[in-house]
Amino acid sequence: MTSTKWVYRFDEVDLAEKAVDGDWEEVRGLLGGKGANLGEMTRLGVPVPPGFTVTTKACLSYLEDGGTFPDGALDQVTEALRTVEASTGKRFGDSANPLLLSCRSGAKFSMPGMMDTVLNIGLNDDVVAGFTELTGDEHFVYDSYRRLIQMFGSVVLGLRDELFENVLERHRAEAGVETDPELPVEHLRQIVAEFHQIAPRFPDDPFEQLRLATEAVFQSWNGKRAKDYRNAAGIAHDLGTAVSIQTMVFGNMGDDSGTGVAMSRNATTGEDRIEGDYLTNAQGEDVVAGTRATKPIDELATEMPDMFSEFKEIARRLEHHYHEMQDMEFTIEHGKLWLLQTRDGKRTAQAAVRIAVEQVAEGLISQQEAVMRVSPEQVDFFLHPQFSPESRASAHWLAGGLNVSPGAAVGVVAFDADLAERWAKEDGRQVIMVRPETKPDDVHGMLAAEGILTSRGGRTSHAALVARQFGKPAVVGVAELEIDLNARVMTFGDQVVAEGDWISIDGTTGDVYLEALDTMVPDIEDPWLMELLGWADGLRRLDVRANADYPADAERARAYGAQGIGLTRTEHMFFEAERLPVVQRMIMAESPSERKEALEQLLPLQRSDFEGLFRAMDGLPVIIRLIDPPLHEFLPARNDLSKSLASHKFLLTKATTLAEIDEVLAQVEEEEHMLTRVEALHESNPMLGTRGVRLGIMLPDLTRMQVRAIFEAACEVARTGGDVHPEVMIPLTSHVNELKRQREVLEAEAKLVMEEQGIEVDYLFGTMIEIPRAALTAAEIAEYAEFFSFGTNDLTQTAFGISRDDAEAGFLVHYMQEGILDENPFATLDRDGVGQLMRMATENGRAARPGLEVGICGEHGGDPASIALCHELGLDYVSCSPFRVPIARLAAAQAAVRAGDPGPRGSSSPAEAASLG
Ligand code: ADP
Ligand code: MG
Ligand code: MG
Repeated sequence: MTSTKWVYRFDEVDLAEKAVDGDWEEVRGLLGGKGANLGEMTRLGVPVPPGFTVTTKACLSYLEDGGTFPDGALDQVTEALRTVEASTGKRFGDSANPLLLSCRSGAKFSMPGMMDTVLNIGLNDDVVAGFTELTGDEHFVYDSYRRLIQMFGSVVLGLRDELFENVLERHRAEAGVETDPELPVEHLRQIVAEFHQIAPRFPDDPFEQLRLATEAVFQSWNGKRAKDYRNAAGIAHDLGTAVSIQTMVFGNMGDDSGTGVAMSRNATTGEDRIEGDYLTNAQGEDVVAGTRATKPIDELATEMPDMFSEFKEIARRLEHHYHEMQDMEFTIEHGKLWLLQTRDGKRTAQAAVRIAVEQVAEGLISQQEAVMRVSPEQVDFFLHPQFSPESRASAHWLAGGLNVSPGAAVGVVAFDADLAERWAKEDGRQVIMVRPETKPDDVHGMLAAEGILTSRGGRTSHAALVARQFGKPAVVGVAELEIDLNARVMTFGDQVVAEGDWISIDGTTGDVYLEALDTMVPDIEDPWLMELLGWADGLRRLDVRANADYPADAERARAYGAQGIGLTRTEHMFFEAERLPVVQRMIMAESPSERKEALEQLLPLQRSDFEGLFRAMDGLPVIIRLIDPPLHEFLPARNDLSKSLASHKFLLTKATTLAEIDEVLAQVEEEEHMLTRVEALHESNPMLGTRGVRLGIMLPDLTRMQVRAIFEAACEVARTGGDVHPEVMIPLTSHVNELKRQREVLEAEAKLVMEEQGIEVDYLFGTMIEIPRAALTAAEIAEYAEFFSFGTNDLTQTAFGISRDDAEAGFLVHYMQEGILDENPFATLDRDGVGQLMRMATENGRAARPGLEVGICGEHGGDPASIALCHELGLDYVSCSPFRVPIARLAAAQAAVRAGDPGPRGSSSPAEAASLG
C-alpha cells in the first residue's frame, strides 16, 4: 500500500495535478488557492521563495482526529524541509546560517485575513546571535525576532495583540520615534525581553515552533472569524485549509528592501494600470496593517526602477497565464524581487466589465469568456445609485428587510402617498415613502418618492412589483419596523424615527439606515458595458422584451435593448387619480347606458396611452393584456366606506341649515349606493374571483372598449408611417371556451375598427398561461391562441396553492430555513413543478400550432436562474421590467453558453438591441 501524500513541494505542482486528473479546481481544493498558485508561479519560473504545502486533506484529518497529524504527515514535512534546505543552502535551526520560514494558511477560496500566518519561524536566542553575526545587522534580526514572538503569541498562544502593541508604543514614545523601523536596536533588544515575559510559553525549539504554528493554522479553520466569513460568503465548512511553509525573504533589511501588494489593473475603474501600495524596509503585514503610511506603487518606479519594471513584467505574465486580473504580494530583499502570492483580483462591477472587454481586445480571452466573466448582478449595479462604501461604513444601521428592488435611496420619511407626492413635487424634497404595505392607490406617492420602505409584504408584494417596474429602490417586509400612522412615527426596537426625518435605504442589500448617506450614480452608458451586452446579444437565443405600461417606460426599455413589450398591464392606466372615478362609475353602473357612457370616457385615454407605446416600440411587437385585476381593487374598501357613511349620518343629526342638510344628505345617498354595490360585488376570495378573462366575459363592453382603443391607436400610428405589431392578450384563461368567446368579441371589434379606419394591421391574439388547467389543456387552447405568455406569478401561486401576496409569510420563510424549499418559488422558478407545467404547455401548444410564440412575463423573467430555465424550455423570449432588460440580455447569453448552444435565433434582431442609448 502506498502511503498518502500529505505534502507537496512548490515544484511538485505537476504531481498534485496528476493526483486529481489534471483538474485545476481540485488542485486548488487540495493545496488551497495560495499553495496552488505558489506552485503554479514556481512552474512558470516566477521568483518564488522555495517551500511546500501541507494539504487540506491533512487539515481535515487533523481536525477529525481531535488534533493529531495523520500518519506520515510530519515525516513528509521534515523530508520536504530537507529539500528546501538543500536548495537555499541554509539550515532550519542552525545558528550559523539559519533558514527562517513562514507558515501560511490558504483555503480553496480566498478568505483574506480570516485565518492566520506566522512569519520568521526558526529564531531563538542562539539563532539570533548567529544570524546577527552572519548579516551584520542586529537591528534587522531583533526586528524579525520581536515580530515572531508577537505573531506566535497572538496566533498560536492566543494572547491579545494589544499586550505587544502597548510595549511597542511605549518604546516608540521613549525613543521619540514615530514608526517601528526607527526604533534603536537597544530598544528592540529590550522589547524582545519584554515580549518573552508576555509569552513565557514561546518555544525555543524551531521544529516545535513550526509544528505548533501549523496546528494553529489548521485550527484557525474552525475559528469564529473564519466560520462567520464562510457563512457570509457562502463557502462550505468542510473544505479545510492548507498550510504553506515557505522560506522567508526579508523586506525589512534596509532601504533597498521593501514589501507591497498590487493589482495588475485598477480594481475600481478597471483601467489597465498597476495599482497598489508598498513600504520600504518593512515586512509583509505592515502594508495591510495600516500602521505606517504606504506609498503608491508608482513611486517604486522612481525609487527602484529595475524592481518596478520586473514586477510589471511578471504581473503581465501572470495575467496572460491566468487570463484574469491578478492581486499579488511581493517582497524585495536587498534588490531582489520575490513574489509571495497571486490570486484573481476582486473588483467593482465597472472594473469587471471594463477588464473583461479590454482583455478581449488584447486577445487574452474570447468574447464568450468575457460575457461569462460578468455576473448579471454586476450589470444591475450600472442601473442604480449606490451608497459610497465610506459613508456606509460610518452609518447608523437601523434594520434589514427584503432587498426587492436594487439601488440606494435617501430621503425624508413620509407616511402616506399624498404627502410623499406633495413634498416631492411642491417642495422639491427627496422622500422615502414608508407604509405598512402599499396598494394601487399609493402609486402616485411611490412614483414621486426616491424609495419605498414597508414593514410587511414580500418579493411579489405590490410595493416590490411597482418598485421594480419603475426602478425605485425598495426594502419591504422589515419585521422590526412598527409604524404608527396616527402618531406619525415609526420605531425600530427603541429607535424612534419621525415623519420628516432623514433615512437611507439600500434596495440592493435590504439595509435601512438612519440619516442621509452619500450616493454615487454609476453609468449605464458605460461604453464597455454596451460592448459586452452587444456580444451577449450575439450569443443568446432568447429574445428579451420588457413589461411596460407607459410610453416613457417603453422608451427606456428600448434604450436598454428590449426587443418589444411582453406585457402592458392596461389596468395601471385605470388607477391614475383622474381616471379612477370614471372606472368606478363604469363598474358600479346600474344600466348598460350608464356603463357605456363611462367606457366612452375611458376610450380616448387608453387610446393615447397605446399610441405612445406603439410609437416607442416602432417595428417591434407590443403585447397588450386586457384588464386583469379583481374589481374590488378599483373600489373603496368596505370598512372605510361604512365608517365614512356612519360619520356622515352622524353629521346629518348635527346639521342645522338646510344647505348643510342637503349637502350631507347627498353624500350619504352616494355612499349608501356605493356600499350596496361594493357589497354586491364582494367576494370572499377575490384572487380566485371575477378577474381576468372572467371579468371580460361578464363585461363584454369593457373588452370591446379596450380592443377599440388598441386598434384605433394601431391604425393611427400605422397611418402616420409607423410599423405596429399589436398582440392582444387574454389573462387568466383556464378553459378554451373562455378564449373562444373573447376571441369572437375581439375579432369583430378589431375588424370593425380597421374597416372604419380603412387600414389593416397585423395582429396576434393570445393568452396568458397562469392557471394549471390552461397548461394541461394547452393543445386545445393553442387552437384559439397564436401566442402563450406564462404569467408565472399566478402560475406559481396556483400550482403551489400558496398566496403570492403572503409569499414572504411565516411558513414560506420557515420552509426555506428548514430546506423544505431551496428557494422562494416566487423569486426563482420552481423547475420541477411550475417548470413542468411550462414544458408541457410549450410542447403541447407548439404541437397543436407550429410556430406558436411562447414567452414569459412574470417577475421571473428578470431572474437569471429562471431565464436559464426558459432557455432550456426553448421559449421565444423573456419579458421583464425595463431596468432588468440589460441583466436579462446577459443572463440569456450565459444560459445559452452554459447549455452549450450559443448563437442567435433566426428571428431575433440583436443588432436592434445592441445599443443602449
Ligand atoms: P494572508 O492570507 O492574510 O494575506 P499571507 O500568508 O499571505 O496571509 O501572509 C501575510 C503576509 O506575510 C503577507 O504580506 C505576505 O506577503 C507575508 N509573507 C508570507 N510569507 C512570507 C515569506 N516567506 N517571506 C516574506 N513575507 C512573507
Ligand atoms: Mg496574503
Ligand atoms: Mg396574472
